[in-house]
Amino acid sequence: MATALRQPIESGVPDNKPYLHPTLAKNYGNWKYHDRPRPGVLHHVAHSGDQVWSVRAGTQRQMDVYTIRKLCDIADTFAEGHVRFTIRSNIEFMVSDPNKVAPLIEALESNGFPVGGTGNSVSMIAHTQGWLHCDIPGTDASGVVKALMDELYDEFRREEMPNRVHLSTSCCEINCGGQADIAIIVQHTKPPKINHDLVANVCERPAVVARCPVAAIRPALVNGKPSLEVDEKKCICCGACYPPCPPMQINDPEHSKLAIWVGGKNSNARGKPTFMKMVASGLPNNAPRWPEVAEVVKRILHVYKEDARSWERLADWIERIGWPRFFEKVDLPFTKYLIDDWRGSRANLNASTHIRF
Ligand code: SF4
Ligand code: SF4
Repeated sequence: MATALRQPIESGVPDNKPYLHPTLAKNYGNWKYHDRPRPGVLHHVAHSGDQVWSVRAGTQRQMDVYTIRKLCDIADTFAEGHVRFTIRSNIEFMVSDPNKVAPLIEALESNGFPVGGTGNSVSMIAHTQGWLHCDIPGTDASGVVKALMDELYDEFRREEMPNRVHLSTSCCEINCGGQADIAIIVQHTKPPKINHDLVANVCERPAVVARCPVAAIRPALVNGKPSLEVDEKKCICCGACYPPCPPMQINDPEHSKLAIWVGGKNSNARGKPTFMKMVASGLPNNAPRWPEVAEVVKRILHVYKEDARSWERLADWIERIGWPRFFEKVDLPFTKYLIDDWRGSRANLNASTHIRF
């Protein structure tokens, strides 16, 4: 008797086709062109002649159920019942009738959801999980991002930057936030403090020793108990030992600071991807509004907007004017610890036990 083949258990991304707006599903992969009638609205025209308008709005990303219900009610009343989220946590409503666009924008904005984030705007900040989800953050993410976007509200609604601007925040130095034109990243400035009473019960010591990129952690016996010790001269305060061993606490209300990095780009559109570089450090981790960080971010954005040529991404602009002019123009002090493309970086990077070249 033939037995039925066991079906594989799929645990990856689910098929999105059943959830697409019907016009998008019908014309999938068959689009002729698209344009933007105004900031925050994308207009796609298919080879079949079908058209669809996507209205993009900003959200605070991590939302309570009442806000999600409000957005769903707007989708049912003013759009056609379908929404999607972009990778930068904006929400898009699709409509196949141009007469529905203006009432939809009015409904979103009157409920506090700004319409924008397309083209050469400052799009919503991509942020990591922060205190709400992750177990190792040194600061909040969603709260401070909301506060920072409050300051950049108008730049989200307009398309007045030289090119698109992507911002990100990361609440630890491991930085799951990725590359961005301007990134705000936690910066620990002191080695971890070890609670020796807990290490033997909580940590797998060989795993923690292997985690350290500069081989600064050694097994040790402390008060007769197996524990760990850190060679503080070698430690680069990266925080990598804290996730596998919470008794190695590195977060500190005073010594965990924030740094600003610029010039990162993930895509290879119009130019190759680039890594961002640190341009300001030691800024206070002053949640929930981060006023000192907001001031530097706004200053960099302002100078970039005034000085860059049309279509220059932030990295292209710096490449053209050079790093010395960048620091002069944005009025940030330069030290040898910043940007790290100086001649000594080979020795610096070779401090890692994992990468040698
Ligand atoms: S940046 Fe670090 S602390 Fe923040 S969510 Fe990512 S891994 Fe967690
Ligand atoms: S993993 Fe990082 S923070 Fe921990 S001891 Fe090594 S260099 Fe220091």
